[in-house]
Amino acid sequence: MLLQENTLDFQEENTVFADVIVPVAVPNLFTYRVPRDFAQHIRVGARVIVQFGKSKVVTAVIARLHHQPPQKYQAKYILELLDDAPLVTPQQIELFQWIADYYMCHVGEVLNVALPSGLKISSLSKVQFNPEFDRPELLTEREGVIIEELKKHQSLTYDELARFADVKNVYHLIKALVQKQAIIVFEEVKEKYTPKIIRKVRLNHFYEEAGYLTALLGELEKTPKQLEVILQYLRYVPVLRTPALNAKGLEKSTLTKAEISDSSLNTLLKNGILEQFDVIVSRFEEDVDFVEAPTPELSEAQKRAMTEIMQSFEEKDTVLLHGITGSGKTEVYINLIEQVLAGGSQVLYLLPEIALTTQIVVRLRKVFGDKMGIYHSKFSDNERVEVWKGVISGKFQFVIGVRSAVFLPFDNLGLIIVDEEHETSYKQFDPAPRYHARDVAVVIAHKQKAKVLLGSATPAIETYYNALTGRYGLVTMKQRFGNAQLPDIRLIDVKYARKNKEVKGDFSNMMLDAIRLNFEQKEQTILFQNRRGYSPYIQCDDCDTIVSCPNCDVSLTYHYREQELRCHYCGYHESMHRTCQACGSVKLRTRGYGTEKIEEELQLLFPEAKIARMDLDTTRTKTAFQTLINEVEKGAVDILVGTQMVSKGLDFEKVSLVCIFDADKMINFPDFRATEKAFQMLTQVAGRAGRRSIRGNVLIQTNNTKQPILQQIIESDYEGMYSQEIAEREAFRYPPFTRLIKIIVKHTEDATADKAAKDLGAKLVEKLSAARVLGPERPLVERVRNQFIYEIMIKLEKNLPLKAVKNYISEQIEAISVGKEYKGSSIVIDVDCG
Ligand code: ADP
Ligand code: ZN
Ligand code: ZN
Repeated sequence: MLLQENTLDFQEENTVFADVIVPVAVPNLFTYRVPRDFAQHIRVGARVIVQFGKSKVVTAVIARLHHQPPQKYQAKYILELLDDAPLVTPQQIELFQWIADYYMCHVGEVLNVALPSGLKISSLSKVQFNPEFDRPELLTEREGVIIEELKKHQSLTYDELARFADVKNVYHLIKALVQKQAIIVFEEVKEKYTPKIIRKVRLNHFYEEAGYLTALLGELEKTPKQLEVILQYLRYVPVLRTPALNAKGLEKSTLTKAEISDSSLNTLLKNGILEQFDVIVSRFEEDVDFVEAPTPELSEAQKRAMTEIMQSFEEKDTVLLHGITGSGKTEVYINLIEQVLAGGSQVLYLLPEIALTTQIVVRLRKVFGDKMGIYHSKFSDNERVEVWKGVISGKFQFVIGVRSAVFLPFDNLGLIIVDEEHETSYKQFDPAPRYHARDVAVVIAHKQKAKVLLGSATPAIETYYNALTGRYGLVTMKQRFGNAQLPDIRLIDVKYARKNKEVKGDFSNMMLDAIRLNFEQKEQTILFQNRRGYSPYIQCDDCDTIVSCPNCDVSLTYHYREQELRCHYCGYHESMHRTCQACGSVKLRTRGYGTEKIEEELQLLFPEAKIARMDLDTTRTKTAFQTLINEVEKGAVDILVGTQMVSKGLDFEKVSLVCIFDADKMINFPDFRATEKAFQMLTQVAGRAGRRSIRGNVLIQTNNTKQPILQQIIESDYEGMYSQEIAEREAFRYPPFTRLIKIIVKHTEDATADKAAKDLGAKLVEKLSAARVLGPERPLVERVRNQFIYEIMIKLEKNLPLKAVKNYISEQIEAISVGKEYKGSSIVIDVDCG
């Protein structure tokens, strides 16, 4: 009789197939065959290694398991299974697909951005001889030869092994050797991730009882060296006083570094008085020393906000907390987080990149200790992998993170907080997916039946609209904590000052006097100018030529310290010129003010003051930003010059003056969101002034003091700004009344880009009508990295069938992309563009 066992797996319907997501920009999932060996263990959400294309080997994620072979191609075998338990949850796979559909990109692109690169395989698989292997009699003759060969090498890739073993199916051979424990496969694939392990020692838990411990100490008096080891241990870990501390033990190196005898230590270990154990430590622990502290008592206003939020959550899934700067929103968040965690659910707390500073981390650490994971793009891959795995294992029930933290494998969220929800940095621009983390958070919460709290002093117009129309709940906090006052904001008319010769360069005397006074009173000043570098352009006095980037249609910014001209769009740089390259004149003049030039001029005016600068150029590393913040906190800085970085949630005790160098550029920027953004930015920067005991002062230089938005900023009149703005949005059909999809067409030949954009525009108009399709138009910077750019803006009413419209748009784009006459053009789609 033929055994079932021998036939079953040859029948096609029993072969397991896996649809996998490959981290590549292709439209479809790919189907692979699951080798029999893995069929039992393979799970949706596990990572696998597959061959994709001719020679590429990539890490993919299983999205679906089934029995249907693909129709159009012969399925290849999965090469390797990396995880026994899923690393990506089914909810995430669903979410990735949603993001791909909504933001009009491919699910592989989502996966690629979502997975920390430490979880993506960087090199081909490797094997090595197991030094503990001691049963050569198990090996076949051929296997023996291979093992001998393997011993000569550190490790071999699968390919190398296959070559000299001269077998077709090297995987089979490897599997046999693994089963016989002759080779090690821990390096079967070299992961970038390596956990950090610490060796620790502790007392046998028997001695946690005071009586036994005292007895032990008495006994050890005979062996003073051993006694010394134990006493040393107890100095660090006071077990007599707090027995519970013993469980965590002490790093072994602490003891071996001390003046104790190693052999005594070893004897104690051998006799089981001390025990040795390894822990995998989080990479964050080394830079945070936290003491658990009680949560501060909430003020009446904060308690009221808490109650209102909880009430609002009973009806709404999303609530906006509109609290002015300094109203104490963070403490409200902390209380909510504690409640949700106590209920057994997970919490995600999102912050914009630069607002995620140690100031906030230290504050949260005090409350949440090491239950809290931190997900930050400036952390290494290893650290990101640790948080990812910690969320799966349950180690981190709570994560504070930036935009990309929405991709973490939560499966039981109770609450997502999006702090500073108006921040545009929640939107990713490049590469795809061009997602908005706030909006994705709302979707995740919906899927996991969690609540979302959006917090801001200056909510996005869309968010406030949703709150007023009842889609979101709304809770407000109108007082600063401890009744601190909002700053006194004044305008300086620079046009008038210039006429009266009351200026030095572009500084009004009034602003300089205020800075001087503040400095003399030993208070700190923040000077805000949203432009880095020394001067945004240099111009020849004789022939008026402006030096521009050879690759982009934009002037080069002069950077003084490096004596360089740089393009902020493509990174091009060249040495500063001595003469005009057009006419040869030496009269090159720096124009406009960047933070570097402001810093320099202030230093000349206030030689005694300690001046620091906070912008992209001074904070490239994780530590540089932190060091700068520490300096300001310590009072080692008198004047801090900075870009928008200084506006993000920094809380400095002694900043009592904030100067805004130029409000006009921001307000007059040609963008339908310019007013909203200027209001947000200026209000946030102003909010840095005088947060606690003293009332702060804010000075704003402008050429037009009559602009209504400036009055609204002075009066902290968000509602006024909102009602004016929402009327305009409605009249001109902008969000929240419409949805915007921007299509960007690029080509190295201007004519081709122009034609592709025009033809695409015409196609789109056919079905969508001219009212919904604007452009193509050249953007502000017409050429970047030698690519000519055209933009088409599509405005869609909220009630249109979005899916059908998007499909139509995709089809039209695809038609253009494959058209011969447009060859070489690239087309980018940005849904809900910024
Ligand atoms: P927001 O984020 O709303 O701008 P913060 O949460 O930073 O405001 O709070 C402003 C200041 O008030 C901070 O210095 C904070 O430490 C302090 N604060 C807020 N709530 C409390 C409280 N309940 N007890 C003590 N200090 C508080
Ligand atoms: Zn010239
Ligand atoms: Zn450039």
